Amino acid sequence: MTKILAGRTALVTGASRGIGRAIALRLAADGAFVMAHYGSARAKAEEVVAEIAAAGGSAVAIGADLAEPLGSATLAEQVVTQLAEHRLDILVNNAGISVPGLIETVDAADFARVLQVNLQSPFFLIQALLAHLADGGRIINVSSMGTRSAYPAMATYAPAKAGLEALTLLLAAHLGPRGITVNAVRPGATATDMNTRARDPVTSVAIAATVALGRVGQPEDIAGIVAFLASEDGRWVTGQCLDASGGQRI
Ligand code: NAD
Repeated sequence: MTKILAGRTALVTGASRGIGRAIALRLAADGAFVMAHYGSARAKAEEVVAEIAAAGGSAVAIGADLAEPLGSATLAEQVVTQLAEHRLDILVNNAGISVPGLIETVDAADFARVLQVNLQSPFFLIQALLAHLADGGRIINVSSMGTRSAYPAMATYAPAKAGLEALTLLLAAHLGPRGITVNAVRPGATATDMNTRARDPVTSVAIAATVALGRVGQPEDIAGIVAFLASEDGRWVTGQCLDASGGQRI
């Protein structure tokens, strides 16, 4: 049976672990050629590539530090090289960082870093790849439910993700004429290195009590939603932020 993303190319940022890893594995399982981006964890990204190859898929690891102002340009150059004469069908901006802190405690360096990785790098990565994106393609930005529920200790992170959502909306209008859909996915608490409380057997129980579906998220939960948006079945959804929290704090 033909896989639903056969013949498609995808870039997933931050694919060496967590949600990005799950997205890379899922898009590859659906048939896409996946460029699995990593920041510094090259060996981990190579493991993801090997796992994809072992399952009969196709992927390559590419590195760039998205905390650096020129990180997105460095990444885009490598993507274009990988694409050769092909177009990029699916761009998943997943890489992100959270520097917890109330507004009273955040310093300018933390603020700049969080904005750089979560907003500025996706912005300029999209800009650099626009000419290489296939008409009818997909841009999927990984945001956070922190934009719709108040978490005062995320004083930098939530505003950065809110900016990513605003970018999502305007790009959906701007790129609609090319048939490109642009959407965001808003994970709730998901068990990854970023959210160790969601992985901890004790604290995850307390978090689960705030989730309508009664558990914390797993990276694969988010990957399934991204895969839907990336698929042909997702073609009529654009400019949306899909909550991917199991109904946390609703
Ligand atoms: P994670 O920390 O496991 O993964 C983050 C990824 O981003 C890693 O692959 C990392 O290498 C990459 N990254 C971070 N800084 C980078 C840099 N300077 N350059 C290049 N890559 C960099 O966390 P995760 O939970 O898998 O997070 C994935 C996305 O989901 C993030 O955008 C995060 O904000 C979002 N999110 C996570 C949760 C959660 O509870 N885990 C909730 C809401 C949103």
